[in-house]
Amino acid sequence: MDYNSSIEILKKYIKENNLRSTPERERILKEVIKLDDHFNAEQLYNHLKKKDDKIVLATVYNTLDLFVSTGILTKYRLGAEHSYYEKVIDKPGHHHLICLECGSIVEFVAETLSNYEIKIAKQNNFKIHNSTHQIFGICEECQQKK
Ligand SMILES: [Zn+2]
Ligand SMILES: [Zn+2]
Repeated sequence: MDYNSSIEILKKYIKENNLRSTPERERILKEVIKLDDHFNAEQLYNHLKKKDDKIVLATVYNTLDLFVSTGILTKYRLGAEHSYYEKVIDKPGHHHLICLECGSIVEFVAETLSNYEIKIAKQNNFKIHNSTHQIFGICEECQQKK
């Protein structure tokens, strides 16, 4: 998804839901589209703050949730207080290994898993939109620290 198509999605969503359009949202979107990795709200906030010191963390949170509603981003919950975001992109479904200690995320693609999903979906006459498996545990680095 590039900036132009995502800004169109955002504008359409704002119009349909009678929201106020603010220049801040477009500025945040511009930065979000450049990110190819997973990120959390604080990381994005720190990044944005370098360019705009008036930005407020609450605005970043609200805007990210808005992007999730429009379908531009996916939000994953990491335990009770942590969430991370990722762009919805047209690549085959990928999965995550998530470290509960440091929050690091490793992506992997597993064709066998995807074939299995398709089979399950077929059996239930279910149309898959997207899917992600999350495997929680302790990464190699954190294991060695103990
Ligand atoms: Zn770790
Ligand atoms: Zn991912």
